[in-house]
Amino acid sequence: MTHIEKATDFLMQEFHCSQALAGAFAEEFGYNLKIRSVNKQNRFRKDVHDLLLSSSKKIGFIQFDVRRFKIINDLYGEKFGDEVLFFIKDNLKALCNDRQFYLNLRSDVFMVVTEYDSDKELLRFIKSIEERSAFFKDVKLQLAFGVYSVDDKSMEIRQMEDRASMARTAAKENAISNVIFYEEQFKELLYTRKFIEENMHSAVIEKQFKMYLQPKYSISRNKIIGAEALVRWIHPEKGMIYPNEFIPVIEENGFIKIVDYYIWEEASRFIRKCMDSGIEDCPVSVNVSRHHLKDMEFVQVLMDDIQKHQIEQSLLELEITETANDEQIGQMAMRLKMNGFTLLMDDFGSGYSSLNVLLETPFDVIKLDKKFMDNMMASDKGKLILEHTVSMSQELGLGLLAEGVETKEQVKLLDKIGCDHVQGYYFAKPMPQEEFYELLKKDRGI
Ligand code: C2E
Ligand code: CA
Ligand code: CA
Repeated sequence: MTHIEKATDFLMQEFHCSQALAGAFAEEFGYNLKIRSVNKQNRFRKDVHDLLLSSSKKIGFIQFDVRRFKIINDLYGEKFGDEVLFFIKDNLKALCNDRQFYLNLRSDVFMVVTEYDSDKELLRFIKSIEERSAFFKDVKLQLAFGVYSVDDKSMEIRQMEDRASMARTAAKENAISNVIFYEEQFKELLYTRKFIEENMHSAVIEKQFKMYLQPKYSISRNKIIGAEALVRWIHPEKGMIYPNEFIPVIEENGFIKIVDYYIWEEASRFIRKCMDSGIEDCPVSVNVSRHHLKDMEFVQVLMDDIQKHQIEQSLLELEITETANDEQIGQMAMRLKMNGFTLLMDDFGSGYSSLNVLLETPFDVIKLDKKFMDNMMASDKGKLILEHTVSMSQELGLGLLAEGVETKEQVKLLDKIGCDHVQGYYFAKPMPQEEFYELLKKDRGI
């Protein structure tokens, strides 16, 4: 939506005027919207500051967002998404009294600050927000709430907001409860973050990041058909640190570039080593964080790796995780294709990727997410969906690989429905590259 369209909508909502009238004022007003939002933030923080000083009751910071808001935007369009946000704002306006303040922090993230006497009262208030916003035009909205109950009023307001934000993130990941209170354990997460940030540079210098490889197999041929490169951080005191612990942090601070570039070069070197021993049919796929996709720099890095190690381009494959429908990724993927890369769509079915993406992004292979597979295999209906996913990929001329295969039953079913390529603990766990090299040579009879 352009700022003029946004301004038109805003004016229509706020002043209940016609589109024509709102449109006439929209241009001038649109430029003022940005300033208005900064002013709103300042006013909100000032109100909260005054409340903290004047109230003798407890103070709660509630931050919430709409689960899968991106998908709502995807399915119903951005205009509808904006209407949802207006709807929530209206509800907050109606619910909050003069000692309760709210702010639309960004996109679908809202902050509400209230005074209260008991947790029960606070939860009742949260429930009222939830109930009032449960449906918008028949679309169910699920909200995830993080709550920080202020225990130290001298703390900066930003810090209080951060704590509510951390709790909201936890609420999003929690399948059982959608309201999570900030607890001291979140501090642990902060320590982890601090540890990573303080140690990541020396980890590179001291070569603590290692490339592990996990084989991919063909069920019917019982042969290795490739491998995925997965990073491990082997810390001299802490031992093995898994990517799920440090990748989110280094993605946020940009250090992922350094780590990925390292792994890509390691993968290229490994491919060269295989080619030198006559193995030219074992592609290695590397993970490409979304962080890279903002500009073209990483394409040059990949091309340089290929050039430097004189490897076949088809042997270095790229795994990209598709979250919601993203134009930027679509365009970047198109460029990568034009540069001759093979693209694997990672985590297909994990909840974000929509079928739209298949239409708009030129992937070569779909990697079925472990959770998707597990879910589907749990029922007959799911098995049918899985079967049709297999035939759909075949008809579209796409390759298919099932990830996270752990049991014989899964292998049997995948074999039956024609999904031949698999990766998972049932066959092999990720292993140090030297170990994989030996396994591969044995597999090839060398
Ligand atoms: P992913 O790309 O989806 O990688 C698959 C993950 O599933 C790996 O976890 C792998 O060890 C695990 N896995 C494989 N088979 C099984 C199985 O049968 N059962 C179970 N439970 N798990 C299985 P890992 O290595 O811990 O990596 C986690 C995620 O971290 C990866 O998910 C990927 O998103 C990211 N990642 C890993 N290495 C890199 C890297 O070098 N660069 C970037 N950007 N991301 C990486
Ligand atoms: Ca992957
Ligand atoms: Ca995956």
